Amino acid sequence: MNILNADLHSHSVISDGTLQPEALAARAKANGVELWALTDHDEIDGQKRALDAAMHVGLPYLTGTEISVTFAGLTVHIVGLGFDANSPVLQAGLESTRSGRDLRAREMGDGLAKVGIKGAYEGALRYVSNPSLISRTHFARFLVDNGVCSDTHEVFRKFLVEGRPGFVPHRWAALGDAVHWITAAGGMAVIAHPGRYKFTANEEYALFTEFIAHGGRGVEVITGSHNSADFVRYTETALEFGLMASRGSDFHSPAESRIDLGALPVLPGKLTPVWEALADRIAYPSQ
Ligand code: AMP
Ligand code: MN
Ligand code: MN
Ligand code: MN
Repeated sequence: MNILNADLHSHSVISDGTLQPEALAARAKANGVELWALTDHDEIDGQKRALDAAMHVGLPYLTGTEISVTFAGLTVHIVGLGFDANSPVLQAGLESTRSGRDLRAREMGDGLAKVGIKGAYEGALRYVSNPSLISRTHFARFLVDNGVCSDTHEVFRKFLVEGRPGFVPHRWAALGDAVHWITAAGGMAVIAHPGRYKFTANEEYALFTEFIAHGGRGVEVITGSHNSADFVRYTETALEFGLMASRGSDFHSPAESRIDLGALPVLPGKLTPVWEALADRIAYPSQ
């Protein structure tokens, strides 16, 4: 089961990806993905389209989302997999998480205006498909296309991270709430790309222990956001905490993403894949 080409982390235009759910399903299938989940940020509006498209191309599918959480002063992402997308608890939780995004984006625009970059909020909005989901990525695309920076990574480094002019501190969901919304909807909560967070060892330990205490059961080990040292490190962390392991590219765009759908190494054999516990939540195409 560990050798399954599962890709359980990807983004469409419903959040900050550049492809439609249907194009992602086709791309995943063409790349040899055997189990797919669309995990748009704080949003499940694309789930029906993703499921239908996956069935159409003959690709097993799990529902997905990636919830923004604030923990110990930093932003952490919690992936939810295999939930019932009609759950009112999950829908209300995601709606509340999305609700601060527009004001934050306006403030980001004000911050950028102060360093001479005018009209960034309106500019970023032109890249947004879902009006309730404006993200830093949309600002990054606007600044690249206007020649302010040469790629989105440079925009983040110079403008969109803590201490930079376009950064606006934001309080996202509480860890326990995000895990609860997912599990109340029958899904599994998974810590996304733990190698990306700038936590001390104690803070990271607290993240994992509190996550588990709230009912979280999985961690991403093989992700497009990890290097090979992270693969080894979080394999050990998964074993130490008794967590199941997930795998996903975090694909956003053919032009921007380093790792394509389905292109990562397989999960190490000593880990238990999240899809074993989610077997009865997988939708299979009819023959
Ligand atoms: P937001 O949810 O609005 O804070 O935006 C977060 C998104 O920005 C992430 O999901 C990534 O897609 C993107 N992102 C974060 N850091 C970087 C980076 N250094 N380079 C490129 N994209 C990034
Ligand atoms: Mn993103
Ligand atoms: Mn993320
Ligand atoms: Mn992601």
